[in-house]
Amino acid sequence: VGQLVADEEKVFLARQPGSTETIARAREHLAGGATSNWQIAQPQAVWMSHGAGSKVYDVDGTEYVDMHGGYGASIAGHAHPAIVEAVSRQVRRGTHFAQPTEDAIWIAGELARRFGLPLWRFANSGTEATMDAVHLARAATERDLIIKVEGCYHGHHDSVEVSVLPEADEVGPRDHPIGVPGNSGIPAAIRDLVIVVPFNDPEAVARALAEHRGQVAAMILEPVMMNAGIIPPDDGYLAAIRDMLHAEGALLIFDEVKTGFTTGPGGATAITGVVPDMICLAKALGGGIAVAAIGGTTEVMSLIADGRYEQVGTFNGNPLAMAATRATLSEVLTPAAYERMTRLAARLRDSLDATIAQYGYGWHVVSVGSKGCVTFKREPVREFRDFLTIDDRLGHLHWLMQHNGGVFLPPWGKVEQWLLSVQHDEDDVDRFARNFARLAEAVAG
Ligand code: PMP
Repeated sequence: VGQLVADEEKVFLARQPGSTETIARAREHLAGGATSNWQIAQPQAVWMSHGAGSKVYDVDGTEYVDMHGGYGASIAGHAHPAIVEAVSRQVRRGTHFAQPTEDAIWIAGELARRFGLPLWRFANSGTEATMDAVHLARAATERDLIIKVEGCYHGHHDSVEVSVLPEADEVGPRDHPIGVPGNSGIPAAIRDLVIVVPFNDPEAVARALAEHRGQVAAMILEPVMMNAGIIPPDDGYLAAIRDMLHAEGALLIFDEVKTGFTTGPGGATAITGVVPDMICLAKALGGGIAVAAIGGTTEVMSLIADGRYEQVGTFNGNPLAMAATRATLSEVLTPAAYERMTRLAARLRDSLDATIAQYGYGWHVVSVGSKGCVTFKREPVREFRDFLTIDDRLGHLHWLMQHNGGVFLPPWGKVEQWLLSVQHDEDDVDRFARNFARLAEAVAG
């Protein structure tokens, strides 16, 4: 596998002289030569030119089926006519007032209908949404501690940058995981307000609540983990933790930044029927424009309504973002679009399963709605510590072989997933399946 990785990295670099040259120029004034550290793929960042439909094109003019989906945001595909029209119309009518516009009312109503929570506010990124949710929980309960699941990512603010992707030698005992800072610059005093628990283990939540009685404001989690491949919740897990938290006067926050809209029209909330106290949305919500939303119960959101918690932001409810969001919800993410994505996902899953069976690898295709990944491990993965034991090299090799075969996946190997958009078709998923078959054959040696 090591040799295959080295060979594919060589091919990768040879295909992208334009990116190599651009990175060299970018480095002069752009720190690290990219606009986010997570754009720096291995062996190098891929600089983009444009996108159309289900395809993206890099600065060398190479076409890819886009299954990166901009880290899960591009569910509309690229230049979707409904979004082009809505955004163009709004650009001509002014793009920013910092005062609310009519579209916000329609969108809040639609989110209430889809997710079952009555009151909503807007922000600009997933990070802002989870930051507001954590603040609101602390304000509502007048408590400071947060329970967080090991391996979940909730954005880059201090309160949640704990035990996001810790190494195996850092995590500590499973019944009392160590809170490992997920970045430099996180004050220890804030890290110490976070209690880390394993996913899919209601007993661990019960223990955390008992050990910190009367001090826990909320538990935040991705209802389907999607920053460690994909790890679905066991039946009954989400309902069990909701009931335990409520019995102790604490709140439940679903971070549906990745799962909202990609798993289905009302995210994991609608699929599981477990409605939390707060839901965070971003990514796919804006159809490719930066926007986020936070929804809550009447009780929690009353803190915003009466000013006890000031949910604020210059660009909150920005009219351009609202126009794109309304078009996404009303014209892009329709029942017919979900049916189409479901059919494509099944076609892809069947092809991959057939290849895996042919070689007897025992790997798992995990797909939920338009999101999916291959877990390169025989044993099922139920929590982050299982995920840690997956061979990193296979995920990286997969990314390279898909890329060199004309399919753009998110760069981070086993951590990330593919996303199908409403504009993908059978040829697109078949190209993915062919690349995967090539990987299976190459690994068999
Ligand atoms: N929550 C989850 C579950 C995410 O996956 C991400 C981003 N990958 C975020 C929050 C943060 O979103 P953003 O990058 O828009 O701040």
